[in-house]
Amino acid sequence: MPATAPASTPDAPPPSDDASTSASEAYGASGEFGEATTGAAGSASRWVLPEAVRVAGEAQRISYDPAPAWEGGKNCTAMTRGAALLRAFILARVPAVKTIGGYNCRPNTARTSQTSVHGTGRALDIMIPTLQGAANSAVGDPIANWLVTNASVIGVQYLIWNRVKWSGSRTGRKDAPYGGPNPHVDHIHLELTSAASRAETPWFRSLPGAAVVKEASTPAGALPARPDLVTVQGIEVARSIAGRLGAMLTAAAAAGVKLTGGGYRSPARQVELRRKHCGPSQDDIWQKPASQCVPPTARPGRSNHERGLAIDFRGVSGRMTRADPAYRWLAANAARFGFKNLPSEPWHWSVDGR
Ligand SMILES: [Zn+2]
Ligand SMILES: [Zn+2]
Repeated sequence: MPATAPASTPDAPPPSDDASTSASEAYGASGEFGEATTGAAGSASRWVLPEAVRVAGEAQRISYDPAPAWEGGKNCTAMTRGAALLRAFILARVPAVKTIGGYNCRPNTARTSQTSVHGTGRALDIMIPTLQGAANSAVGDPIANWLVTNASVIGVQYLIWNRVKWSGSRTGRKDAPYGGPNPHVDHIHLELTSAASRAETPWFRSLPGAAVVKEASTPAGALPARPDLVTVQGIEVARSIAGRLGAMLTAAAAAGVKLTGGGYRSPARQVELRRKHCGPSQDDIWQKPASQCVPPTARPGRSNHERGLAIDFRGVSGRMTRADPAYRWLAANAARFGFKNLPSEPWHWSVDGR
């Protein structure tokens, strides 16, 4: 029996690209990314995927489309449509990202017989200005986490960010330490599948077009610009509604009604709930109308919970029902504080009743 595993299996990680070329050299981007940073509060020593994101990623399986042989650059193409659309989308959504590199005809730095995925026009380098030389996790992590959560609907096959690589084609654990000479603290290296590069995956098909990409309502939803959150008497909500929620909880308590519940929900958690309430397929998670889920659950990117603007209140046992005294108090008083109920869900109260 051979003592070693074969050198390459279908699940083997792709050769590490970007091993020595810094994106700023490769794309002529300015190296001056340190402008106007506000200290190191947003940096972490490596990308740590939140549990829900890691699990959502591991539930998906994305096949790895390799780049062709190098042959002196003969096999290079150009920036693909999918890469261009995703690039425009991220630039429009994340003000902190000013530069995203893409097409670059060169050999794979780790395996020079092969074209770099950048030469196929399927790779992007999302430049994340560093914080005093360290990765700005506050900017980069939400983008990387969004890409993992939505990997199959977008067609993301591989990522490298802040000393960690994520391989969509792997079974089981998909994130692993990245040991290349370039630690990728100043950019996220992202590779699309061939289908995604042709804009044929569901996320791209839902985009009305590059011109209106900023306003696109997509199955994957808005990039999760995490709202400014605060916890009010145990309920996490957007700061913008903290005052009125606090006033309402206090008024309820004064009337002998103790209100408890959950407010903010991360985009990854929304995906998890869609899987649980709507079904396991990509279609179930991203497309099925909320009303066909049990209980009804908004499509990812479309829930007021993801904006910290909705609260699910608990009743005497489990979710609040119309029979709960607390429901009756809310029905009589919540409007004074600017909260409205979604009639199909007695427990769900938000700024606009959705
Ligand atoms: Zn790259
Ligand atoms: Zn709710």
